[in-house]
Amino acid sequence: MVEQLGAQLEDRPVFADDLRHHLRAALETAAAPHLDILPEDEDLFLHKHRLAQVHGCETLLVADEAEEFEWKVPIARGTIVHKAVELAVNWRREIEPPTIIDEALSRFEQDSGSLGHWLRGCGEADRAELRSESLDSFTKYLECWPPLKPAWRPVTESRLRAELCDGRLILAGKVDLTLGAAQGRRAGKVLVDFKTGGFAPVHREDLRFYALVETLRIGVPPRLLASYYLDQAHFVPEVVTEETLMATIARVADGVGRLTSLLHGGRSPDKMVGPACRWCPVIDTCHEGTRHLEELDDR
Ligand code: SF4
Repeated sequence: MVEQLGAQLEDRPVFADDLRHHLRAALETAAAPHLDILPEDEDLFLHKHRLAQVHGCETLLVADEAEEFEWKVPIARGTIVHKAVELAVNWRREIEPPTIIDEALSRFEQDSGSLGHWLRGCGEADRAELRSESLDSFTKYLECWPPLKPAWRPVTESRLRAELCDGRLILAGKVDLTLGAAQGRRAGKVLVDFKTGGFAPVHREDLRFYALVETLRIGVPPRLLASYYLDQAHFVPEVVTEETLMATIARVADGVGRLTSLLHGGRSPDKMVGPACRWCPVIDTCHEGTRHLEELDDR
């Protein structure tokens, strides 16, 4: 883990002073014309999931956004595991995964936020399933990661935000784990996203989006991005370059154009079949998705 994520000081890249201004100007120039059709009192909020969806099946995006957010076991598991990692960093006794998971659950149960509300009202079976799945992911994490030293500056669920075009375009996200920090213009931070299940190309795009927001925020890009696949104990790392950030700007600006024309320009949503058809809420009325799943099952 240390070999894969660590780097000697002299091997860490140094970026130009004006990189942040250069990136901001490029993104604002590309995105601003698309914001003209936003209603006066509305801003555009973009996070990794929304950006990925608008580059995937737009019909699914529209259906998802029409539904009210509801906590479910797979969504809550990520939050519980991240809290467990955070507790483990500062835990002074021997780390016993069930104790830490129970502590994480109990903290959210006492919380006045929406997860706390859901936890207090959910059935015993949902709570038991959440505990079991969180324990599985956290145990896998402990099996492969060394104890995170405070000197590595570990931060879980680190929030990122950048506002552009006079605050009309907001880019935001929450990184599962960050390690290290920049030193002056020298990159030093590593962004890690934990994943259950297998690799998907969009996981790279998600982290590149975070790298862009981080650079707009503090002016120095992260040194490394890494998706970590808990079930396989496997990293997919990527070094951050200026070219990666410029490509991400093109993706974000294109996403802004698609989203505004869809939500405010009267454009009909496209369909794109793919893995998401399996859990799509409108599969029953989607001919393309149904046919796609039938073909997959035949194969
Ligand atoms: S079933 Fe597939 S193609 Fe149809 S709307 Fe859903 S994700 Fe899109």
